[in-house]
Amino acid sequence: MRKAGATIRVGLVLAACALLSNGMAMADEPAGHWLLSGDAARDEISPQQRLRIQYDIATAKETPAVRQALAGRKATTAVMLQWPLHPSRDVGAGYHGISNYVDHDPAFPTRIRDYTCGTRSYDTADGYNHAGTDYFLWPFPWRAMDEEAVAVVAAAPGVIVGRTDGHPDRSCTMGDRPWNAVYLRHDDGSVTWYGHLKRGSVTSKSVGDTVETGEYLGTVGSSGSSTGPHLHFELHDAAGRVIDPRHGACNDEPERWSPPQAYYDPAINTLSIHAAEPQFVQCGLIDGMPGHEETFAVDSVVPGSTFQVFASYRDHRAGEIATFTLTRPDGSEFAHWNHNLADSNPQRTFYPATAWYWAYTMPADAPHGDWHFKADFYGHTYSRTFYVGSAEEARDGAVRRERAEVGGLRAPVRQRATD
Ligand SMILES: [Zn+2]
Repeated sequence: MRKAGATIRVGLVLAACALLSNGMAMADEPAGHWLLSGDAARDEISPQQRLRIQYDIATAKETPAVRQALAGRKATTAVMLQWPLHPSRDVGAGYHGISNYVDHDPAFPTRIRDYTCGTRSYDTADGYNHAGTDYFLWPFPWRAMDEEAVAVVAAAPGVIVGRTDGHPDRSCTMGDRPWNAVYLRHDDGSVTWYGHLKRGSVTSKSVGDTVETGEYLGTVGSSGSSTGPHLHFELHDAAGRVIDPRHGACNDEPERWSPPQAYYDPAINTLSIHAAEPQFVQCGLIDGMPGHEETFAVDSVVPGSTFQVFASYRDHRAGEIATFTLTRPDGSEFAHWNHNLADSNPQRTFYPATAWYWAYTMPADAPHGDWHFKADFYGHTYSRTFYVGSAEEARDGAVRRERAEVGGLRAPVRQRATD
């Protein structure tokens, strides 16, 4: 079931989680980790499928609804694009990574050139040169997809010139499978494609309706030929030519993203606490049935019990050191360790996403109250609070923290088909 090369899971023997007599845990080897290559979220749009989509868009542009909508809009010069994703709930500091950019080398196979002249893209033996940017969900992508954690939103104002829904999300095979998607025509004549939307999530708006920047189009899914939940974002100019919105040494086109998006964007997406080792699920299937990751995430730990601390990264490179600490309510350190991807002897020196977990035992006499799991990485500090105490106290603590977190949430404007 696990595809070679797509994911490597290495469960290391837990080496040094024993507690010293003073209650200080030793810096640990990870209890386990996952490394995701670009293959973990890739896709294929067959030439036939591409022709069908382009025909449908061209046909839609001639319908009275679209003609009328376009007649009411003013032509502009190059439209600038804004971030096309929006978390629909608190999904942590980060929720995505980028697995693949546009392949600018028309030759194939394995002739790859992204907009920076690097190789973060792919092609296939049958001549597909990846024509978009793939934004995947991380961590726990299948759970995030099923829970509709991340909305896909319009990158610029425009008119809907195509929409499809109803295609399933868990094929994980390449080929000619149709996807769920929305296509928007912008005021400079360009068209943006938003592909692999989750089945049943596509906006209830119709071809010919207008949308504003940031407006809900669907949620990130894995419909069509796709190996994991991601948005395939594709941009076409007024002539129907694929263009890469990212300007770089190997792409003369002007930058279209506002603000520009970094090629490398290293970050810790999430920090969390778990009662047991979280699960990794390949292709959204468990024993052949649709399913998603059991995380065993908790926000409290009972003294005397074992627990896992979990960190997910995006754009993780060997040699960049993260520093983690676990601190007691009085601010004193319970544990402190450095983490370097290179120490696990990975096959590659760069991964679009990784995740790691370390096992600890909470001493029976641990002070009750709010503890902190903190990380410093790439110039940023990340923090997650968890409660240590009895189950009863923990419940009260959970209520308190939930209240504290609600203030920061923003819900996207959501319109979807009710069929
Ligand atoms: Zn793609």
